[in-house]
Parts: sequence; C-alpha cells; structure tokens
Amino acid sequence: MKITVVNVYAKTMPMASAYNMSSAPVGDPSTTIIEIITDSEHVGWGEICPSGPLPQPEHAGSIRADLELLGPTLIGTDPTLIGEVWAAMTGTMDGGIGAKSAIDIGCWDLLGKATNRRVCDLLGGPLMDPVPTYHVIPIGTPGESAGLAERLQDEGITKLQLKAGGRRIEDDIAAATAVAGVVRPGVDLFVDANRGFTVEQAIQFSQACTGLRFDMEQPCHTYDECAAAKSSLTHPLLLDECAKDLATVAKSISSGVANGFGMKLTRVGGLSGMRAIRDLCLATHTPTSFDDSWGGDIIAAACVHIGSTMPAALSRGAWISHPYHQLHYDEVNGPRIEGGMVAIPAGGPGLGLVMPTGCFGDAIASYG
Ligand SMILES: [Mg+2]
Repeated sequence: MKITVVNVYAKTMPMASAYNMSSAPVGDPSTTIIEIITDSEHVGWGEICPSGPLPQPEHAGSIRADLELLGPTLIGTDPTLIGEVWAAMTGTMDGGIGAKSAIDIGCWDLLGKATNRRVCDLLGGPLMDPVPTYHVIPIGTPGESAGLAERLQDEGITKLQLKAGGRRIEDDIAAATAVAGVVRPGVDLFVDANRGFTVEQAIQFSQACTGLRFDMEQPCHTYDECAAAKSSLTHPLLLDECAKDLATVAKSISSGVANGFGMKLTRVGGLSGMRAIRDLCLATHTPTSFDDSWGGDIIAAACVHIGSTMPAALSRGAWISHPYHQLHYDEVNGPRIEGGMVAIPAGGPGLGLVMPTGCFGDAIASYG
C-alpha cells in the first residue's frame, strides 16, 4: 500500500459549555483533520486539535504549517510500515510532534483497515470495553463546583478533575474542600492547575488540603518546579504538560517525582508514542490516562482504543471532549459517554469510524 494523497481539513468546534482553566478559557477550537488516501481502497484518518494557543506549545496554525513540510514527504510511503513513515517524517523536520502524531494516528487507522483488525487489537487487545472516562469541573465558586460534582456523579462519572490556578490560592483551597466533601466512595478526584501554581502556592495548597482525598495534577509550570515541590506535597503528584516525551516520563518515574500521568497522544507521537509510554507505565505500575487536548471523533477514538488496552487498576481513563462541544463526525460510532464510560467505536476495523463523504467540506491543503 502506498500513500497517494494527503488532504488537510479545518473544522471549528463551537463550545457547548464553559471550560475554564488556569491559563485561559477554551474558545472555539479549530481542529485539523488529516485524510490519508492510498492506492488501495482504504483511507486513513488522523486529527489534532489544541484547545488554543494556551496551554499547549502548538496551535492550529503551527500544525498546518508543519503539515506543509510533512505532507509531501509521505507520498509514496507505505502507511502500514509506521516505523518507515516516522523515519520519513523525522528526516524532514525536528519539531512538529503534533502534526506527526496526527499522521501516525491516520496510519494506525490504515493498518487496521488493511489487516481487518481494530486499532485496539493491534495494540495488544482491549482489557476493558467500555473504558472509563473523567469529567472536568471548570474553575468556579465552591458551590458551583460542588454542585457540578454531585450532578456528574449522579450521571455515573467515577473520575472528576477539578481545575485550579490563575486566581487567589484561597479560592482554590475553598473549591477543592467543597468538591472533596461531596466526592463519594469509589470516585477519584484530581485537582489540575494546568501549571497555574508557583512552587510555593502548590505547597501551600496541598498542605492546606491535607487529609482531603485527591491527587494533584501538573501544579507548576516546569518539571523542575514540580520536582522542587514534590517532597513538601501531602498529595500524590501527576504530571501532564511537562511529561512531553518518553525520556521525561522515564525520568519522572525513576526519580519518584511522578505518581502518575495525564498523557496527551498528540504531545508524545500519537498512538506509537503513547504505546511506548503505556508499556513503561505498565512495567513500573504507574497509572496514566489516555487523552488529548481537544478535537472530535477521530482523536477521541484513538484515545479510547489505546485506553482500552491498559489494565483497569492502572488506567486513569480516556478523556474525550465530546461533552463540551457535542459534535460527531460519525453520528453512529462516534465516541460518547454513557454512565461514565466510553465504548470502543464499533464501525469496523481501524479506528472503527465511518466518515460521511464530504463531512469536512473542502480541503484547506492537499499534497500528492
Ligand atoms: Mg491535565
């Protein structure tokens, strides 16, 4: 099989509900969709959608610029030999991990379609189906946050992520105290500052909340800042934004800085990069999630497929952004949350999605 054409599409994902983080509220993200056409009957789909220029280092414009370099190099490569595709991409440019990740996901979709296997089967086989997910409680008042926590638990959500940072530390302490007070037995709570705390604030927050049952996620900006805070925290520490590659994940585990991870597929090399991190987390009994920053059915399907291959005891779930935009490309098989769980898309081999013809409009770029 050879790649003959790579088409790039842009689609705005209007927000259906507020989503506030320490860095900025999420606006209406623009997702980038990659269609990989081959000389066979099979077509592969990839996607990447940063929530905006904050808090990720990449944004829609930078990803599309990277695709201008990467797209032409893919023509003539065999998408089922994913290592060779990566060699072509890394031989073209050093950066561009987001664009490369989206292409990687499209190649896994094609490998599945070519071999008549689901992506989750190619990654070792599902150990869970459906897969648990977690839901975000955006920055708000203690009453608003606790009320939403109650409603989400009523809907079956068993993992809650409370956003924090970017305001007075006393407000975050009050919100965390209110939410922790309504969290029910068997439900996990994470407090995610998205790098919004200084080292001093992270320590102040954790020590003020001593005795409240939650994990802290990415409190400070850098790995070094999180490491500096670690020994003074009274809560387990999860890394997200600064866990940017396999080497950092390995260092985080071996140094004892990280007790777990919130991982984004398109930050670490798509399904190929996430598979390596999954295996490292498995070998070291370290929990991780399988997420991405935003986007529609394609990236959500990728997260659910690989998320299903993690044992439940080590899974922090697979996050999908569907509740916040409520859009589907594939109305039948597009991943959705039911009772706090997301089923593996069942529309066929590969990612299990069936993309309606023309559903993304005209391509904004085409290579081949
Ligand atoms: Mg996070």
